[in-house]
Amino acid sequence: IKWTEGRGWHEAQLTPYAPLSIDPANMTLHYAQEIFEGLKAYRRPDGSVATFRPGANAERFRRSARRLAMPELPDELFIAACDALVRQDNAWVPPHGGESSLYLRPFMIATEVGLGVRPANEYLFIVIASPAAAYFSGGVKPVSVWLSENYVRAVPGGMGFAKTGGNYAASLLAQAEAAEKGCDQVVWLDALEHRWVEEMGGMNLYFVYGDRIVTPELTGSLLAGITRDSLLTLARDLGYTSEEGRISTEQWRRDTENGTLTEVFACGTAAVITPVGSVKSAGGDWTQGDGQPGAVTLKLREALLNIQTGAAADAHGWMHDLG
Ligand code: PMP
Repeated sequence: IKWTEGRGWHEAQLTPYAPLSIDPANMTLHYAQEIFEGLKAYRRPDGSVATFRPGANAERFRRSARRLAMPELPDELFIAACDALVRQDNAWVPPHGGESSLYLRPFMIATEVGLGVRPANEYLFIVIASPAAAYFSGGVKPVSVWLSENYVRAVPGGMGFAKTGGNYAASLLAQAEAAEKGCDQVVWLDALEHRWVEEMGGMNLYFVYGDRIVTPELTGSLLAGITRDSLLTLARDLGYTSEEGRISTEQWRRDTENGTLTEVFACGTAAVITPVGSVKSAGGDWTQGDGQPGAVTLKLREALLNIQTGAAADAHGWMHDLG
């Protein structure tokens, strides 16, 4: 779907996957007006297909657009575009069972040609899709994390809450540092004190205190994950208490060592729910749990996947049915 100043959204088209032809002076290549989303379509036991909370992705896409001075795509168009692609690619939605899905990647770029620094006056919104298997092939395996103090992902007033390529470009060097330290993932801390836990490379974090689960509050510099939001509700359905709060790195370590912090897990569209098994930082290392995924982590994971794959009732109307 195209957008042009003065004309708005027009020319919705469903076309075979093909390369784009880009002018070397395309404004996106120089000034990075680019935003994207990620969501999944699942096949249910009866063979029908549904996407998980596309309206929430549409809304987040509009928030990202506003921050990058891009036009807001109406939610109905966002959802209709995803639906049209999933219907076209129905055969690519894997059979029910396991965690396989069709991953959708809606995105928007500026298409105007010019070298002046200002919001572009032409944009293109596209959705592409790719079949996705379970994120971790060996089952649910705890990951090791590196607390990044040398780099920050986002600053107050910046773009951290937006899903834009620049945030991911800023994270690559820290991810490489994590790998050098022998860790799977980076954990981002706040930009000012390097003390408050924000999120992981591509997932939000949850801290399990017995039957209470806590996730870092939305400060504006972390992504408001849709899985994170869903778990605030789902945890209550399962009889846990769920809340947003502030968690410092000292508290993380202290509460793990004194046994009150019983599990930590990360959550996101790609990996669903993944336990954190060990932590490394400039200030010291510690292990989290006994090397096995925790009971609360597994229970939430199963409950969420069951809703997504249609194995359990969709009490909150999260599944968008495509027939
Ligand atoms: N944080 C970041 C930086 C991410 O890229 C993602 C993945 N979109 C998440 C959190 C989790 O968000 P969601 O649950 O919407 O996938």
